[in-house]
Amino acid sequence: MSEAAPSPRVKKCPICGKPAEQRFRPFCSKRCSDVDLNRWLSGVYAVPAVEAEEASETDEEPDRDDRPSAKS
Ligand SMILES: [Zn+2]
Repeated sequence: MSEAAPSPRVKKCPICGKPAEQRFRPFCSKRCSDVDLNRWLSGVYAVPAVEAEEASETDEEPDRDDRPSAKS
């Protein structure tokens, strides 16, 4: 990861990309905090192309087959 921000200590708001406010960290405002929360709650969280995405799709089990196998 490379940061081109002038102040390395200031993190970017993951929602809109503005510098995060300390009181709303890691967001820039209450609004962005709410947006993020709503995304989590609705299960469609996606970082809007500001930083690299984290690969965390390990919930699926491709080997699993719930259908009852009808053997004869
Ligand atoms: Zn923001």
